[in-house]
Amino acid sequence: MRIAYLDRTVHETDGEPKPNGGVSTLSKSIDLQGSVETGDKTTIASKDFGGLYSTKPLALIKPAGSDDVSRVIKAASRIPRMTVAARGNGHSINGQAMTNGGLVIDMRSTEENHFRLLNINGSFFIDVSGGALWENVLTRCVSRFGLAPRSWTDYLSLTVGGTLSNAGVSGQAFRYGPQISNVTELEIITGKGDITVCSETRNPELFFGSLGGLGQFGIITRAMVKLQPAPDMVRWIRVVYTEFDEFTRDAEFLVSRDDGESFDYVEGFVFCNNDDPVNGWPSVPLDPVHGFNQGIIPQTGASVLYCLEVAFLYQKGDHPSTVDKAVAGLLKPLRFVEGLKSEVDLSYVEFLLRVKRAEEQAKANGIWDAPHPWLNLFISKSDIVDFDQTVFKKMVKDGIGGPMLIYPLMRSKWDNRTSVALPDSEIFYLVALLRFVSRGPSVEESVAQNREIVEWCIKEGLDFKLYLPHYQSKEQWKRHFGNQWTRFVERKASFDPMAILAPGQNIFKRTHLS
Ligand code: FAD
Repeated sequence: MRIAYLDRTVHETDGEPKPNGGVSTLSKSIDLQGSVETGDKTTIASKDFGGLYSTKPLALIKPAGSDDVSRVIKAASRIPRMTVAARGNGHSINGQAMTNGGLVIDMRSTEENHFRLLNINGSFFIDVSGGALWENVLTRCVSRFGLAPRSWTDYLSLTVGGTLSNAGVSGQAFRYGPQISNVTELEIITGKGDITVCSETRNPELFFGSLGGLGQFGIITRAMVKLQPAPDMVRWIRVVYTEFDEFTRDAEFLVSRDDGESFDYVEGFVFCNNDDPVNGWPSVPLDPVHGFNQGIIPQTGASVLYCLEVAFLYQKGDHPSTVDKAVAGLLKPLRFVEGLKSEVDLSYVEFLLRVKRAEEQAKANGIWDAPHPWLNLFISKSDIVDFDQTVFKKMVKDGIGGPMLIYPLMRSKWDNRTSVALPDSEIFYLVALLRFVSRGPSVEESVAQNREIVEWCIKEGLDFKLYLPHYQSKEQWKRHFGNQWTRFVERKASFDPMAILAPGQNIFKRTHLS
């Protein structure tokens, strides 16, 4: 396929290319193995899961492989102000995978390019495409090799390159670190168009910069991911707390224990102390059969309650009594409300694909495609009580039309050399307000409340960071990165000197990095 004479026009004034008006430029023609879509066929790249922003790219490129990605970036660098954005599965919230009037590279077209098992000194790795979906990595690794990656996200219809550009966290991250702590090598097409292999020892600045690097240094075309033997089964358990300090004490106790002395997955969420079908008690039991008696919730008058969610991995051959005993032993020190326990056994793959089931239901109910003004934060352990008092117990006490996740993570499982900005303390919490607008406050109310929460965190001087960050000014980005700002800017200048890689719609203007 040949892109010949891409005709485009640019506003010279504001640093962001716009498709209409201003000075016109022609691109040189480039030969591609893949395809190029224009006009209505670019619609998919003009929106994302968040549904808050819409832009029109100049073209949607479906590369056949790394050479195509390299050629597109090199060609774009010859066109003044042309930008390129990698798109994984478009599950960003704030337009991070979009570029207004630029070229969007749809990495999903490269899914089949790499899938190779490696055995290096007895340790197993899977070499996969940056555009592969984690759900496909899971099912293929388990069915073919009986192996699986160690660290996940809750939902797996996300691409390898997309989550590695952020962090990738779920209930296993307390033990293994985020997904970015579980890759050993990347192939990256830099913002100069160079095809570069990098690792901790080979081009380490590019390797660590790209992990959590928001797609700002290069496009990940291949990743080598650590594997471990896949268990067969999971016992998935939820227990309920009325007191936040007991919930956090137990959650922190579990994530601080050594391997073998804790559950294999630890998460949690806040829910409303009422019978609201979305935000209240019905959101806690794992299924109708394994529900619990709401009559035994203590009458504290609390507006919200807390659910600790844990999982225990085992093999089919394990005797049921062995599993029961191990689980009972792990639950014993926990101080949840007696009787408020819900549990279910399911296969390991079913457990990891649990949100896919929720997606299918939400699609059937027509709520999946509504806007999602989500807010994701990392909040230091030292500030989480204040956050609970003000945000959970007051601001969002009536629910948000979707889950409100909260669980602790360990900073020592993250690598300071990556680009992710974290709070300072060893234990910090992921807080995710996952709003489905069709079931809760309007988009405007949700966005306003998110802003109010972030502004409150800043005003109170909380030690916190946005996860999946999206700021609109240089000052905000500088504050986000703190003492990592200079390193981030220098890496950008080194690997993407022409600022080809688009920072995303409304994220930050390319000139801010120059
Ligand atoms: P996109 O949204 O397409 O892209 C994200 C960013 O990465 C953009 O800046 C894009 O330019 C860049 N990018 C994409 N591909 C590449 C590449 N190959 N190389 C370089 N840059 C690239 N996150 C968690 O950590 N844990 C969770 O449990 C979790 N659950 C989620 C559940 C749902 C339902 C949704 C919608 C999101 C969830 N996320 C979670 C957030 C998710 O990790 C991010 O939104 C991620 O960016 C989405 O991946 P994607 O493949 O759709 O990437």
